[in-house]
Amino acid sequence: MATQIEARSIRDEDVLRAMRTVPRHLFVPEEWRARAYEDRPLPIGAGQTISQPYIVAYMTSALGAVEPRCRRVLEVGTGCGYQSAVLAELVDRVFSIELTDELAAAAEARLRALGYDIELRVGDGGEGWPEAAPFDGIIVTCAAPSVPPALVDQLAPGGRMVIPVGSDPERQELLLITKDARGLIEREALLPVRFVPFRRPE
Ligand code: SAH
Repeated sequence: MATQIEARSIRDEDVLRAMRTVPRHLFVPEEWRARAYEDRPLPIGAGQTISQPYIVAYMTSALGAVEPRCRRVLEVGTGCGYQSAVLAELVDRVFSIELTDELAAAAEARLRALGYDIELRVGDGGEGWPEAAPFDGIIVTCAAPSVPPALVDQLAPGGRMVIPVGSDPERQELLLITKDARGLIEREALLPVRFVPFRRPE
């Protein structure tokens, strides 16, 4: 799988190493295990998906492409916990929020069994995690109609956020939001993507 991703221009050695280390097949339902290393998204239950390896690698490198590397990262949309595990291979502390109880519980059990020490919370990621803020990096793995202001607030000076934005379920824009040392925000469109929607709590 790392070779496939390398072939698609991910050159960040640390990210490639992290992706080689995390056993992706243990994050997908049993019936999909044989296809876990294909470069495609797969169903993980509750109508959600694990992102394709290329997108995980791309977002992870976009988050930490500049030195110094992120130390504390917030993920919105834990899903099966795969992206959280990849991040845990690279940064000091990972915080991840999932809206669906069932997915959060399964991810927690799985990550614990694999020895990952990740802070997990069930709730609306749109509010961020104020008590643990600020974050050097924020990664959102569901598509929001616009960038949640709480997440921008919780980004540290010099921090980077990668987030798919757009209301079209078929195509959104992956944005890189950066906050400079003075708190100035800039946004850059990276590439068109297709993510499951960011949902509001009922
Ligand atoms: N990073 C995940 C991708 C999961 S898909 C992985 O590696 O598997 C996106 C996830 O975002 C889904 O599990 C969905 O339930 C969750 N989600 C959707 N809206 C959310 C919200 N408002 N807050 C937190 N999680 C949300």
